[in-house]
Amino acid sequence: MTEDKKSNIIQDALEVLRKYWGYSSFRLQQEAIVSAALEGSDVLAMLPTGGGKSVCFQVPALMKDGIALVVTPLISLMKDQVQNLESRGIKALAIHMGMSSREVDTALNNAAYGDFKFLYLSPERLATRIFQDYLPVLNISYIVVDEAHCISQWGYDFRPDYLNIGQLRRYCDAPVLALTATATPEVAEDIMDRLSRPGFRNFKLIRSGFERPNLSYIVRRSEDKLGQLRNICSKLKGSGIVYVRSRRNCEELSSFLISLGESASFYHAGLSSALRTMRQEEWKSGKVRIMCCTNAFGMGIDKPDVRFVLHHDLPESPEAYFQEAGRAGRDGKHSYAVLLWSSSDIRRLKQIERTSFPSLEYIEGIYHKIHLMYQIPYDAGEGRMLKFDLGAFCSRFKLQFSEAFYAIRYLEREGHWSYAEDVDIPTRVQIIVSRTALYDIPLPDAAMMPLLECLMRNYPGIFSSAVRIDEDFVAASAGVQQGQLRQLLYNLSLNHIIRYIPAANSTVICLRHNRWRPGNVALSPGRYRQLQDSFHKRLEAMTDYVAMDSDAPDAAVLLREGKLQCRSRYLLAYFGQAESGDCGHCDICRLRKRIKEADPAEDRLEKFINIEKSGHYSLGDIPAADLPLLRSLIARGTVPPPGDA
Ligand code: ADP
Ligand code: MG
Repeated sequence: MTEDKKSNIIQDALEVLRKYWGYSSFRLQQEAIVSAALEGSDVLAMLPTGGGKSVCFQVPALMKDGIALVVTPLISLMKDQVQNLESRGIKALAIHMGMSSREVDTALNNAAYGDFKFLYLSPERLATRIFQDYLPVLNISYIVVDEAHCISQWGYDFRPDYLNIGQLRRYCDAPVLALTATATPEVAEDIMDRLSRPGFRNFKLIRSGFERPNLSYIVRRSEDKLGQLRNICSKLKGSGIVYVRSRRNCEELSSFLISLGESASFYHAGLSSALRTMRQEEWKSGKVRIMCCTNAFGMGIDKPDVRFVLHHDLPESPEAYFQEAGRAGRDGKHSYAVLLWSSSDIRRLKQIERTSFPSLEYIEGIYHKIHLMYQIPYDAGEGRMLKFDLGAFCSRFKLQFSEAFYAIRYLEREGHWSYAEDVDIPTRVQIIVSRTALYDIPLPDAAMMPLLECLMRNYPGIFSSAVRIDEDFVAASAGVQQGQLRQLLYNLSLNHIIRYIPAANSTVICLRHNRWRPGNVALSPGRYRQLQDSFHKRLEAMTDYVAMDSDAPDAAVLLREGKLQCRSRYLLAYFGQAESGDCGHCDICRLRKRIKEADPAEDRLEKFINIEKSGHYSLGDIPAADLPLLRSLIARGTVPPPGDA
């Protein structure tokens, strides 16, 4: 493509950006990504959280014919993005777990024949028959893979359903636009391998620097975390997030902060979705200053003025840590990412490492117990969605909670099922009297008959089993309000005319295969070891990160020996960004500054080490005042003795 033509295309893209988003320019790498996408290349884009990945695919998709397929892992993200697009006057649709087949069919029909520009899909949908049937009539502009690291088994958040995207490439010519904020070099390679057309790998990898110059990483070892928390929350002004591991701790820390007169609240996946939305809003608007939460909070939350993110427990991977810490300071103003840890955190991580990988026999046992619990025989079950309650499961089979949980997650990683917390399950209804009897029963409410007729007309199977109903649709066609509809359904169930299973929010296990027979549950020992190994590497990277302790009694010496490294550099190197400077304001850079200020000899010290690196130095080169320092370094072995010693 000529340069002229290219700049014309960028001008057009800028027009679109201005028209729909009101932004005057692209950020540095956005322009490169948009332009590669418009050329039709497959692109893997790596931008940090908040870097603006969405417009990188939204702008090109608006400029092309057809509809962009967008795969994202979380329903909540999907809903937010669809709403966001609609608010800009862009037509978008979503298909996710929990929708009835009628709703899915309507959505796909719209995607094929309406003038929609975006179809958001949760990845397990790609493998469904109905989607496959529609595929030939969908005019797909791009296959967008958001949170693309989910496709890699070596990543920290592997989701086997993402592997369906690779299959899709066999049937669909559209270029791939994959986006992620966290990928080590190994994971980036894996993403490109898995998303390539069969036998043809031609990806453009475009990444921006992951530096966050306004973010200070601070790590503190402390056996009194509450005291630290109190100090930090009182010292730092503005909105903050406190990440904790357990739900119970969220509540406790929030009460603790409130008892100190702070404005705080808590958030975790155990709260109702209405309550979660409310709390999130209160925090976003600034009504509540500090949110104590599990990692369920934050994905997709785009609040620019978060002044600090405090980790009260040690996260399990640098990927998770970097994402969560990175929610501070999106507006570019100075902010803090503080991590507290104690020796018990290290013990806990070791414990997690042990329980995360129960024996393969145990894992296979869990596989069969789950099928038993739902009375699913061998060679059956594919596609079933099981409403799952871990507590009930464990008490029924006398299992230990965390071990069972990790076995379920392991089976998910191996592609046997997907496990999703927090899924909206629609209302289901079955009519339990016969069609003829229905007309003989005196109904207490005149609105009941039209409702029943509407149900019979639209849901032919409703006499034989409980079917999902679309509440909006039924309410509208029966001419009642939603609240009234629920009351009517409830009353009908009291009168033993229907079975009514109200909409709920629950954990769901979705079976991807028929039940295997014992011994055939494909669990490879080789893979087990590989997964264990990559898990271990992530834990180790995290423990090494905190083991660099700027408060240690011998910190100054460790620093000289190069054993303490700028936090930002450490994290960036983990993500494959080799060249980056010291940030100048993490706890380790601060230590370096303090030492230099307190003792000007330190500057000269660096010179010794440089002289030493050059191969030879002699005592005569060293000013007398520095000799004591030099001797102590020689004694520690940091610097070898001079040639003339
Ligand atoms: P990511 O998915 O990379 O975490 P988002 O796509 O959610 O980030 O974008 C983060 C924020 O940056 C959003 O509020 C978005 O509207 C804003 N943004 C993106 N691109 C630009 C731009 N070129 N100019 C100004 N703001 C932008
Ligand atoms: Mg995003």
